Amino acid sequence: MKDYHTHHYNPAGGTICAVTRADWERVAATPGMTPAFGVHPWHVQGVDAAELAFELDDWLSRYPAAEVGETGLDAADAHRATLEQQRLLLHIHLGAAFRHERTVHLHGVRAWAELLAILKERARCNTLPRVLLHAWNGPHELAREFLALGAIFTVGTRELTHSRAHERYARIPDGRIFPESDDSPADWPRTLALFNLLRRGIS
Ligand SMILES: [Zn+2]
Repeated sequence: MKDYHTHHYNPAGGTICAVTRADWERVAATPGMTPAFGVHPWHVQGVDAAELAFELDDWLSRYPAAEVGETGLDAADAHRATLEQQRLLLHIHLGAAFRHERTVHLHGVRAWAELLAILKERARCNTLPRVLLHAWNGPHELAREFLALGAIFTVGTRELTHSRAHERYARIPDGRIFPESDDSPADWPRTLALFNLLRRGIS
């Protein structure tokens, strides 16, 4: 199984997401991986929205297999001061992903409900791209709402070892939840084993 969301090279293949604009060259040049272009919600300060929109259009045109991200919303204490800028850049990423028909990788911390409202509004306007919710840790009732919007989920070791992992992840349909290594490439074999155990009862 490939690595559906990471920031590092993985010999198993998968999608490698940029976290800053300066990171795009690196992810584009990583062999055997699908690049994703974006600016992580932790790094939105000082980013010019119009310039980002222009650059995303340019890079997605030049890399027809590339995805979009990492973007999203982080309302934790350390990041809530930039929430307005996070929202602005999130909409730039969602718009680019929709126009170029790419998957967009979403980060959500204390923000799943707001993300759901944003995606629902886009669905109503027929401008919703395909979304991937990374490090998904919401309850199944909320997962159902995202599933209705066509979302897919990725989970890593941190999510899979949580005491609520079974109730959160076991009922998500096949083909809608996948493993990720995110920032822990060394954990990949264990992540895969935990994922298979949870989903299929095999390790
Ligand atoms: Zn990530």
